[in-house]
Amino acid sequence: MNYLSTRNKELRMTPAQAIVKGLAPDGGLLTPAVIPRMPSRAMENMKDMSYRQRVVYILNSYLEGFSSSELTAYTASAYGGGKFSHPDVAPVTRLDDGTFCMELWHGPTCAFKDMALQLLPHLLSASLGKSDEKKSVCILVATSGDTGKAALEGFRDVDRTKILVFYPKDGVSAIQELQMVTQEGGNVGVCSVVGNFDDAQTGVKKLFADERLAADLAERGWFLSSANSINWGRVLPQIVYYASAYCDLLKTGAIASGQEINFCVPTGNFGNILAGYYAKCMGVPINKLICASNSNNVLTDFINTGVYDRNRTFYNTISPSMDILISSNLERLLFELSGRDDKLVRDYMGQLSEIGSYRVEPFIRDRMQKNFYAGCTDEDQTRETIARLWAEHSYLIDPHTAVAFHVLDQYRADTGDDTPTVVVSTASPFKFCDSVLEALGVKERRAGLEALDQLSEFTGVAAPASLARLKGRRPRFTSVVEKKDMEAPVQAFLA
Ligand SMILES: *Cc1c(COP(=O)(O)O)cnc(C)c1O
Repeated sequence: MNYLSTRNKELRMTPAQAIVKGLAPDGGLLTPAVIPRMPSRAMENMKDMSYRQRVVYILNSYLEGFSSSELTAYTASAYGGGKFSHPDVAPVTRLDDGTFCMELWHGPTCAFKDMALQLLPHLLSASLGKSDEKKSVCILVATSGDTGKAALEGFRDVDRTKILVFYPKDGVSAIQELQMVTQEGGNVGVCSVVGNFDDAQTGVKKLFADERLAADLAERGWFLSSANSINWGRVLPQIVYYASAYCDLLKTGAIASGQEINFCVPTGNFGNILAGYYAKCMGVPINKLICASNSNNVLTDFINTGVYDRNRTFYNTISPSMDILISSNLERLLFELSGRDDKLVRDYMGQLSEIGSYRVEPFIRDRMQKNFYAGCTDEDQTRETIARLWAEHSYLIDPHTAVAFHVLDQYRADTGDDTPTVVVSTASPFKFCDSVLEALGVKERRAGLEALDQLSEFTGVAAPASLARLKGRRPRFTSVVEKKDMEAPVQAFLA
């Protein structure tokens, strides 16, 4: 199967090229030429498979040129070998007869980014060989916390790759910083930047755009890449867990074969929920995809009105991984809903970059509302939801997941729909101890890693081993650079 650009259907690439390039040269997103339809017995067939087997089953139909045995080896490295602390990888917990929670945070960094970033490096490393790329790849990441660590863990010691992460010196939590500066592996580097996340990100973008640097690195056998969430290699592994949750519900008898379910997804860049839409297109029986936002509710307005408008106040919330005003992966949804009209997509994206807003055609808005429901929460509602889930179900959730649970309540009250629903849980509550303790009513809260123990003692829930292990670890990376000096660490890293 070939891949094409959402802004130009004539542009064609192999899967390997699409993964190596990340982005089409015209700025569009690389997307499969067709979304494969699964046979009607697929869910029954996959029901008794392990998570890793389900990955191979789904990926096979998207990655021409990759053999099943290769994919099996990559999934073993990504999801096996104790990398995930739960044998089911993406377990589904039952809260009541119609409400379930899929936990995507049992990976090495305790956030759902691991689901894709554990597999992508293997796909990318193999794609270099398959696309005749002679150079090796150096991944540069600017992170506000979760992505940096997940990328470091994923690329750690993967052939023909190196990874260098920049984070804002004062812009990440104590736990997130310690997670990064203690990173192990022979091909990794971490450097802090004086400034905020935007400074780090602008600096990295400048490095990508620097042709002299690119030519210099090419001579030494390297090219730079970003591995960010618009790379198809990050969307693809996420399709699997939607099918997997369905199979798990079938297996426990919670639903009957063919019965539809909803998913409710805490959304930022639209990567996670988009994968759910592809799962639906492939034939997983999905009724509604419920898009949950925090106060940065640009997607709520868009889905409800058909107008996307990024010209609005930006809020820093307690669900920071959803603090986003431009949801890049939405472009792929527009491509599908418009009937793959590349000209229309080009037009909308042009308006977005020029005036910060666009209005979609009524038929696109209608199709969107048929498949999606959208709602948003404020900070108090998020905290109340953490407290409520703990009081009613003794179930501890993080603030991102709480946004989704609250929007699910809104959806049910609004529509009366009682279709069984899976809430997608994107982070361990122990990654956000302070907000969770506050929500549970704890006034005097301990700082840094001490908060892990405090949350554990207060709830009787054990902290994930990978976070508990951080205690007493010595930082391995200590360099700090000014934002204007970010080339030097790259040069030193690749010397
Ligand atoms: C990245 C992230 C999200 C948002 O996911 P998108 O794919 O960007 O929509 C939600 N929750 C957590 C914890 C995340 O790390």
